[in-house]
Amino acid sequence: MDMKITDLTITLFKWAIKPWGTGRHNFGGDIQLGVVTVHTDQDLEGHAFLGSPSQGADVFAGPLMARIKPGLIDRNPLDIGAIWQDMWKERRYVSPRAIGAVDVALWDLTGKTAGLPIHRLLGSCKSQVPAYASSSWLPTPEAYGKEALRFKSEGWTAYKTHPHGTPKEDIEICRAIREAVGDDMVLMLDSMWAYSYDEAIRVGRAVEELDYLWYEDPLEEEDIYNYIKLRQKLDIPLMCTEYAPGGLYGMAQWVHQQATDILRGDVAVCGGITPMMRIAHLADAFHMKCELHHGGNSLNNVANLHVTMAIPNCDYYEVFPADGANKYGLIEDIEIDENGMVYAPEGPGLGYEIDWDLVKRDTIQVLK
Ligand SMILES: [Mg+2]
Repeated sequence: MDMKITDLTITLFKWAIKPWGTGRHNFGGDIQLGVVTVHTDQDLEGHAFLGSPSQGADVFAGPLMARIKPGLIDRNPLDIGAIWQDMWKERRYVSPRAIGAVDVALWDLTGKTAGLPIHRLLGSCKSQVPAYASSSWLPTPEAYGKEALRFKSEGWTAYKTHPHGTPKEDIEICRAIREAVGDDMVLMLDSMWAYSYDEAIRVGRAVEELDYLWYEDPLEEEDIYNYIKLRQKLDIPLMCTEYAPGGLYGMAQWVHQQATDILRGDVAVCGGITPMMRIAHLADAFHMKCELHHGGNSLNNVANLHVTMAIPNCDYYEVFPADGANKYGLIEDIEIDENGMVYAPEGPGLGYEIDWDLVKRDTIQVLK
């Protein structure tokens, strides 16, 4: 199909969020969310959201407009693979989050052109997966246990904790959660790069005994050397590449050096749907799982959902924060049903509608 990109705009609008956090990592405040729009010479546009509760779209917009936009004009938006490869060459100057937003908007446009949901174009593998409630920081072990139990009573089958980042407290938190929910709820631990090697072994052995499903990011994200040693000591699967430097190309080393059991990424941190699919396929070729990280805003979460449905090796869908505080800007958002399941989108493109009345009401600036 002959089509041309004629323009790219970013509409910055207000996203006022009650602050929350995961201990050392804080989110919320007066954030600017951005709608990235790819315009064409046909009656079709592609959209994505840019920004998250930790960094608004205004942080990324300048480099995107200066270094990415000029390379898009007059290109066929359906040439996504070629466009992504060119955008990735700018990664030293432009955040992968900005590259990812353009890539998601191009997939949205392609889906709308075909009249199909994106996961259909990628090759659907399934139509539903269980969601897990991913905690924010809570003050006590009891508070974590109580929250996990509440999700269990609402039908959720899995819960992941972001505890306090000190081994003793974190073990207490993990134990309190297991005691609260019993043996039949899937539990995961995300330590968010908090420990030394020795501490990581201590906590890992504790959560193995508590029958946790995976152990996420115990050490710093570039520390392949200690991850290899840690993996040889522990039985619980390690999942370590949420922020692995280099994205898709960095992850080759993690697989080659046997430093992780599960690959991880998302459409924002890794630079779009295109590289996220390739990361999942890299993992699949080694019979490894690839579990997706949340996307930081509602449309990125939708994009992640399409990828989840289009790969054979992702078993769960992350909802962070568990209370749903980062849902914003759509008419209807992703919902988890009474069995704790999330379903494949059915509309063309991303398949979720932007709340344009809200965007127009709270527009700060349109960048052209
Ligand atoms: Mg994580």
